Amino acid sequence: MALFDNKERTNLEELGEFGLISYLTKNFALSQKSTLKGVGDDAAVLDPEGKKVLVSTDMLLEGIHFDLAYTPLKHLGYKAIQVNLSDICAMNAIPTQVTVSIGLSSKFPLEAVEELYKGIYVACEKYNVDLVGGDTTSSKQGLVISVTSIGYADEKDIVYRNGAEEGDLICVSGDLGGAYTGLQLLEREKLIYLENPNIQPDLEGKDYIVERQLKPEARKDVVELLKEIDVKPTSMIDVSDGLASEILHICKQSDKGCNLYEEKIPLDPMTFETAREFNLDPTVCALSGGEDYELLFTVKQADYDKIKFKMDISIIGYITESNAGCNLITKSGVVHPLKAQGWNAFKNGE
Ligand code: ADP
Ligand code: MG
Repeated sequence: MALFDNKERTNLEELGEFGLISYLTKNFALSQKSTLKGVGDDAAVLDPEGKKVLVSTDMLLEGIHFDLAYTPLKHLGYKAIQVNLSDICAMNAIPTQVTVSIGLSSKFPLEAVEELYKGIYVACEKYNVDLVGGDTTSSKQGLVISVTSIGYADEKDIVYRNGAEEGDLICVSGDLGGAYTGLQLLEREKLIYLENPNIQPDLEGKDYIVERQLKPEARKDVVELLKEIDVKPTSMIDVSDGLASEILHICKQSDKGCNLYEEKIPLDPMTFETAREFNLDPTVCALSGGEDYELLFTVKQADYDKIKFKMDISIIGYITESNAGCNLITKSGVVHPLKAQGWNAFKNGE
């Protein structure tokens, strides 16, 4: 698990800042019509072609947001891009450009930065997004990555968090809780490794949830699907902090309440099994785990027929008036007020 051991190391000082930037960016082809100028001048030049511009930024710090003990740099680059693209998708828009800024401490050789950029490029190519700029600095300690993503949309297509109406159906894509249970697994293997470096990590049969943690996917396909079936959500958010926190954001900003049904929350069998292994309630993993990067959205009841058979979309509840509060109806029919955190009470109370 240790990083960059027994590998070729090229000191970043040998290249210098400009050498590094051109080394990292020279092979990246631009594919978006809206990119007039990418890397290489004082600023990128973009053409919104009469549309509204959506911009979102995230910063990731080593030791706070990621742990290089079990995060391969290539995966980290990939994830840094995906979590940003997810924010543009959550506005019902398609991301088209990103900028990537990095702070590097002296422990990172060129080979490490190259790995990081490999992941960045795989993500950009897969999602047809242009890398159009960034910044490169040194950091005293650890790795810092900040990504800004940009997308364009017609004003009428943009979906905010505040548009949910009473009676709307609450939908979520994919399945939830996987990234969190994957993280539990990686943290466990890290501890075992630190105690005995000769023991290899045992992640056998757990690929899905480990991938959910290390290699999330922005649900651009869901944005495209909704367009295809002519459904415009009334509100939308991406699931970065857990289902409970996200639905509370929608309800608060829309000034509404909600009823969520525990039995409807989509869980992968591996998430379920692994949560149980760790003595965690799988529902709590979905509600409070986070990092699944699925899309949570509300639609008008009239759109029910258009989405009811969509394999990858689950209807998990409905919007109520604000006085009814935000509730989870458990499998046994008990009504629990939803909280963004503090699920222990719920777990013990069941
Ligand atoms: P300035 O001194 O004006 O900030 P830089 O030398 O930092 O310019 O950047 C030169 C060019 O390289 C710019 O187009 C910038 O956006 C791009 N760039 C710098 N760092 C990165 C990076 N880490 N990834 C991608 N592009 C970068
Ligand atoms: Mg700069």
